[in-house]
Amino acid sequence: MSSTALEDDSVPGQAAARPGGRTAGEARFDDVPLGEEWHSPLYAMACRQFARAADVLALEDELRTRLLEPRRSLVCNFPARMDNGEVINYTGYRVQHTLAMGPTKGGLRFAPDLGFGECAALAMWMTWKCSLAGLPFGGAKGGVRCDPHALSAGEMERITRRYTAELLPIVGPDMDIPAPDMGTSEREMAWFYDTYSQSVGYSVPAVVTGKPVALGGTIGRHDATGLGVVFSIESAFEELGWSLPESSFVVQGFGNVGSVAARELHARGGKVVAVSDIRGAIANPHGLDIPAVLRWVDEHYYLEGFPDAEPVSGEAMLELDCDVLVPAAREEQITERNADRLKCKLVVEGANGPTTPAADRILSDRGISVVPDILANSGGVIVSYFEWVQSHQKYSWQALEVQERLRTQMRSAYDRVRGAAVELGVDNRTAALASAITHVSEAAKLRAIYP
Ligand code: GLU
Repeated sequence: MSSTALEDDSVPGQAAARPGGRTAGEARFDDVPLGEEWHSPLYAMACRQFARAADVLALEDELRTRLLEPRRSLVCNFPARMDNGEVINYTGYRVQHTLAMGPTKGGLRFAPDLGFGECAALAMWMTWKCSLAGLPFGGAKGGVRCDPHALSAGEMERITRRYTAELLPIVGPDMDIPAPDMGTSEREMAWFYDTYSQSVGYSVPAVVTGKPVALGGTIGRHDATGLGVVFSIESAFEELGWSLPESSFVVQGFGNVGSVAARELHARGGKVVAVSDIRGAIANPHGLDIPAVLRWVDEHYYLEGFPDAEPVSGEAMLELDCDVLVPAAREEQITERNADRLKCKLVVEGANGPTTPAADRILSDRGISVVPDILANSGGVIVSYFEWVQSHQKYSWQALEVQERLRTQMRSAYDRVRGAAVELGVDNRTAALASAITHVSEAAKLRAIYP
């Protein structure tokens, strides 16, 4: 089987030639062979994106295998005591996608449906994201399968601390540095930092990023991903000759990424016509008063019931008329089922993996450009890198310095992606991946194979 088989939607099953060993040609996405437990639909999606870029680069099979499979993973089952005295067993993961670039970096996701395969896909995307941004990290991702909304603060603390203790053999300030992701925030990062520091006997702020500023976190980390999405929009607008105040935006997701992106777009005069959360969307074709929406959410937690807007279903909001759609919620939101109905002119991905490869093809045929996730949402990990540097240096930067460095770094990544897209004659996602993969494969080749 040739390596391009990775692009097929259904790869015929083929028994591994050597038990426990695999080559690129033997990779399969349609089931979970023994010894390849990281497979999942999301991992298959990450592999298909990778294969497309690897084909463009004519990457050799040996490197495909080395770069596709998650290099090191930890799966743990651990008990935690609930407030009512009951003991519940939780499953935690940490996947480190490549060790070729230096320490690994990526968030901790707490979600009820989290699995090994999701972490493996997200870890791979972190590798490409870090590489594209020029950060000295490989990618990682982890978390705990649990429902943070159903847990008290005390239960969350016990789960986070115990999970941290389970991770001790594979994390450290120069080994693997976690950060927030879905379902976690600076509160969990403070517990992570404290638990790790208690275990080694002294404070190690560089072991985690996204910490509260009072504990050595950096100014600007909280807003970095959402702000980075807006910087990407500004770069695209500059290239396209569009004007932000004359444009309309639909933002899916009102968490840390979506709410900041909506706020910053509104502050720049953009018309945000719809936003959504897990309960549904609210829309106003004349533009939502985003500061009022933020106050509403502060008080009521959900968007539901906001007075100056119409309720819309989560699916319908993606198909609303707008210039720019910003999916900033979950993966696999734009698929072959809705891609031909989108009415936007540009998609800027705040979430990781919101567009499937089949949808990518439809959007491209329809002339809708995509600013891909590994570029558009890299603001978070870029400022995480700034935090890590500050923690190592024991020296804090000013807010303006953080913001300007973020803007410069994202701008040069944007220019690199557009340059590669034109040079290779491919879409932005393939160009971004090709640029990222080139850098990582070069490092992997130079480090060679030991022994
Ligand atoms: N979880 C974020 C992401 O997906 C940030 C990771 C980090 O800051 O290390 O990019």
